[in-house]
Amino acid sequence: MKEIYLDNNATTMVAPEVLETMLPFLRDSYGNASSMHGFGGKVGAFISQAREQTAQCLGCSPDEIIFTSCGTESDNTAIFSAVRSQPEKRHVVTTRVEHPAVLNVASHLEIAGYEVTHLKVDEQGRLDLQELEDSLRPDTALVSVMHANNENGIIFPLESISEIVKDRGILLHTDAVQTVGKLPIDLQKLAVDFLALSAHKVHGPKGVGALYIRRGVPFRPFMLGGHQEKGRRAGTENVAGIVALGKAMEMAAIGIHEKNSRVRTLRDRLEQGILDAIPDVRRNGDPENRLPNTTSLAFKFIEGESILLMLDQHGICASSGSACTSGSLEPSHVLRAMGVPFTYAHGSIRFSLSRYTTDAEIDLVLQELPGIVSRLRAMSPFTATSKATGDCAC
Ligand SMILES: *Cc1c(COP(=O)(O)O)cnc(C)c1O
Repeated sequence: MKEIYLDNNATTMVAPEVLETMLPFLRDSYGNASSMHGFGGKVGAFISQAREQTAQCLGCSPDEIIFTSCGTESDNTAIFSAVRSQPEKRHVVTTRVEHPAVLNVASHLEIAGYEVTHLKVDEQGRLDLQELEDSLRPDTALVSVMHANNENGIIFPLESISEIVKDRGILLHTDAVQTVGKLPIDLQKLAVDFLALSAHKVHGPKGVGALYIRRGVPFRPFMLGGHQEKGRRAGTENVAGIVALGKAMEMAAIGIHEKNSRVRTLRDRLEQGILDAIPDVRRNGDPENRLPNTTSLAFKFIEGESILLMLDQHGICASSGSACTSGSLEPSHVLRAMGVPFTYAHGSIRFSLSRYTTDAEIDLVLQELPGIVSRLRAMSPFTATSKATGDCAC
């Protein structure tokens, strides 16, 4: 039985066309793009092509793109560059719901003596733009706000954010790992200075990402070494990965609106089907401004991990909003920031679809999930008889 893969915000299948594109660079064309001989030199043209494909997809110029090893490296590069290029500025603004690739850099900066403002979100997962505006100071080096959240799919209003931030001449970075290839992005209209993306979230391979750096923005490299990427990112180019990223970006852009409406229809059918069939379920976050492929649902009285284990027995892959660490279940920082009540937060799971998701797969989830939830609820110490307390049954 083939798995039903509904965990596409964690990673995606490599598109068969993308795999075909990268194979020659692993098999025969293994030369180093920096070599003097033609054997290596010729791969440089394919890197340039990938840079053009990536730039095309974002509406920027190819020389504003550097290739990195992942979304995490792109986020790290942008944030460290912004603070190192403005040593007199000691304040950074971000949000409480960022990916660890940003949050843990922010914590690192705090330990190094920077002040970090973590913007809050409301119960729908939305930012308060007034709070953003009030947080900006003369010594603010950078605002780092994700484009869409990986857990609940909520899209932040990046255009309005950029207007507020650019008015003050402050650098703006966005972690767009969840939106590139899912939403049309036009950097001509979007005044961000840095934008991070990752290939494996858009049907490319793992281990390659890119960072957009707006022309004219001061830049300090994160990786030091050779002269690759015009001195902006040292390290021998991952040619196969870069070529694959270019192809993945090109493919994502083709018919993006049609693909989105198809995925949205499937997601809505899954979500509505679950809400209709199962009592005490709620949706986490703003239903309007969110990615078309994502739904985060909270099942009262039971634990997300238990649902996932039982879904897994039916070959269905989803993900939970919690991380079970050292025997105690902590709801995810995103659900906590949204103030999702305890009895729901622990029972939260995320389904994230892709352009490869089929109607039959959604049917199967809708067929299996109600039984799974009622079996778990029948065993739950929280259901009906005992009242929910602060303790959890991990
Ligand atoms: C996956 C993800 C990342 C990290 O990307 P990697 O390529 O896995 O390092 C960063 N931010 C968001 C929002 C993500 O979803």
